Amino acid sequence: MNKKKILLSLLMMFAVSAIGGCASKRNEKTTEKSEHKKNSQPDNAAKEVLVKRLIITDGCIGCGLCFNIDREHFAMSEYEQKARVISQANLNSYFLQAAIKNCSSAAIALR
Ligand code: SF4
Repeated sequence: MNKKKILLSLLMMFAVSAIGGCASKRNEKTTEKSEHKKNSQPDNAAKEVLVKRLIITDGCIGCGLCFNIDREHFAMSEYEQKARVISQANLNSYFLQAAIKNCSSAAIALR
């Protein structure tokens, strides 16, 4: 009788440890999957690489308003009688936004 109880308890312990081992392996797999999902998502640094460029299109009539508003980014070309971009830095500046907004021919663009 005692031998049966001991044998039965050993079997129970073995079964419990086997089930616990399977559960921990399953947890490892789920954590691996979640880490893989995290790594597969594009990170913000990669998004910021897509930087816009300041350009002046052919619609510029050479009125000089952008140059008067923002001399950090614009200069007037005497030869072409048009504005030209002289800097691609600080594209979020207040004066650049004002120049874009006030250009009468909508010739300034950030692309
Ligand atoms: S404000 Fe517009 S139209 Fe006038 S010079 Fe600048 S880009 Fe050209």
